[in-house]
Amino acid sequence: MAAVSGAPFAFNPDQDVTPNATPLPQPTQVDGRSTRTGYIYDPRMRLHNNVHGDDGHPEDPRRIWKIFDAIQAAGCTKRMVRIRSREATVEELSLIHTEDHISRIAGTSEMSLSDLFAVAESYNSIYLNNSSSYCARLSCGSLLELCNAVATGQILNGVAIIRPPGHHAEPDEAGGFCLYNNVAIAARYLQKNHGLKKIFILDWDVHHGNGTQKAFIDDPNVVYCSIHRYDKGTFFPGDPVAAAYTTVGEGAGRGKNINIPWPCPGMGDSEYIYAFHKIIMPIVYEFVPDFVLVSAGFDAAKGDPIGENLVTPAAYGHMTHMLKSLAGGKIVLALEGGYNLNSIAVSGLACTKALLSDPIEALQPVIPNAACVQTIHQVIEIQSQYWKSLTPTYSKPSEEYHRDSIVPLAKVLNVYRTEFLYERHRMIKLPLSNPNYEAEFMDSVHSTPDMCFTDKPLYIFVHGLGHFQTRALGNSNNLRIDKCALIDTVAQYVDGIIGSDNELIDIMIPHSPATDDDKELLKERVAALLADIWDNYVSPTGLKRRIVLLAVGGTICQSMVAFMNERQKEVALFVSCIVLIPGEDETIPLVTKRLSKWYMEHSFVVVADDHPIWERIHEPITARVGNVVRSGKPMSPLSDQLLYLYPITFVQIEDKLKSLPPLPSLQ
Ligand SMILES: [Zn+2]
Repeated sequence: MAAVSGAPFAFNPDQDVTPNATPLPQPTQVDGRSTRTGYIYDPRMRLHNNVHGDDGHPEDPRRIWKIFDAIQAAGCTKRMVRIRSREATVEELSLIHTEDHISRIAGTSEMSLSDLFAVAESYNSIYLNNSSSYCARLSCGSLLELCNAVATGQILNGVAIIRPPGHHAEPDEAGGFCLYNNVAIAARYLQKNHGLKKIFILDWDVHHGNGTQKAFIDDPNVVYCSIHRYDKGTFFPGDPVAAAYTTVGEGAGRGKNINIPWPCPGMGDSEYIYAFHKIIMPIVYEFVPDFVLVSAGFDAAKGDPIGENLVTPAAYGHMTHMLKSLAGGKIVLALEGGYNLNSIAVSGLACTKALLSDPIEALQPVIPNAACVQTIHQVIEIQSQYWKSLTPTYSKPSEEYHRDSIVPLAKVLNVYRTEFLYERHRMIKLPLSNPNYEAEFMDSVHSTPDMCFTDKPLYIFVHGLGHFQTRALGNSNNLRIDKCALIDTVAQYVDGIIGSDNELIDIMIPHSPATDDDKELLKERVAALLADIWDNYVSPTGLKRRIVLLAVGGTICQSMVAFMNERQKEVALFVSCIVLIPGEDETIPLVTKRLSKWYMEHSFVVVADDHPIWERIHEPITARVGNVVRSGKPMSPLSDQLLYLYPITFVQIEDKLKSLPPLPSLQ
């Protein structure tokens, strides 16, 4: 195997290593394998530098030195085996890259500054100098050497403190500070030279590793899992399709590509550990890899100016520790991104200590945020087609069933509700005039029989289906029907409203939207449904009676407020009281500025004592959120909240109605 060329400068690779370091003790052996951790660090990789005029480039040559310095200062290097660096050969680079790409990068070693600039500009986010090509070969070759040492049992595991990084480099394209895809080449190298068949690559760099994904997109023996910021596809590298959770691999590689795309910044230890427990570890235990490679960028670390995530060194230690249990301990971490010099140093040190089996700092309680839980469930929904160990398992009814054999459960329950409301209160289905909603909400809207003919107060009560207490058979999603129950706390509210001599329009929304887009769509449809009911049944009798609006559930409260904002004039004129119980939804809907004074005086927005809004209480809460009151209880399932709030809600409404001046029509 011929090297492309030698070092362009005379440089002592040991210059950053303590000259008087004591000789390394002999590695200990277990079953013929070393139990020691190796590392690779070569200061010559700092020669790749930005000469295009931007001094503050984040891919700073000092990055590798900072990590090395931290592990050396902590005394780790004394207990580790230093693996010698070397350049990757053309043959090795060719395991992933095209001949054309390799020669284009190699050609930059003798270019003029202006030509270097022109080549760099032809890529997305690349800088080049005459040492870049050499450093990229050194970065890649050194990782291969470290992998070789692990695969042959010379060391147990290792950390490659290398640059330039690699995971954005595609087979025929450099990009995102990456020239050659170090980790992808290492995976192929291990397969080819060491007969290791199955490789697991975890990419926890905050960016999607488009290059690595592309290299193995149809490969059934390389599982590539990336956990990255996505931000609706706008976060670098900015391909909304490639980085989405729906990209699962192609052909024989279907299910072997796993993207965990965070929708926003601010993801920290809880979110990463949750992803490990729910997706990464179950998949990798099912896959049973022969070798684990980590694209260990530290730009998701707390303090990173680009990633804006919050992962602490403790979490990096825990993640490394979990991965170390796999593949007989054969794991190599390779540096990718990470742009806060202090954050990458402490994060790299935590990973190294975990590889050395030093004690790992304890984590704070793992409580993932809502955006994380939603993302994880989206990934599981699609990946559970390919991985039996992912739960809950999702499935769609087979297309072979006859159309009439597939009955949506919401339809079954609507039949039950229609019957229940009629039997109990003689309530009837309210015809809807708009054919657009007729099909969707046809069975959802009921009213007391005399609703249009009396002056009694009219309640408009909008709520969900209640919740199910269910039990499934094993890991399948076949319910044990005899062990399942519908917890229908709204029935109590219906009894309470009608029992106090009021009229009622009851609207049940049988949807549980999961994504933000689904919630937005549902909000619009329910707001339009409310407007339709308002125009046909409420407005004509509006001034003659008290009208009370009661909404339960996050999206339903959003819909109610959207409707009120649209009809603000009539609402302020006709409605006497409005109660919103948004549940666990973090966003409290806002009325228009014009409606806010009226809203503040006529509303109760009941939120749990531990709702995030109370953390913002020191900020001036705008009147547009309404009269926000504490529920007196911490967050709990909506049905439990409704049960607890039942008497309180009715006292609040009655007190409000009594405090209002008499209606003009009743004077
Ligand atoms: Zn990155």
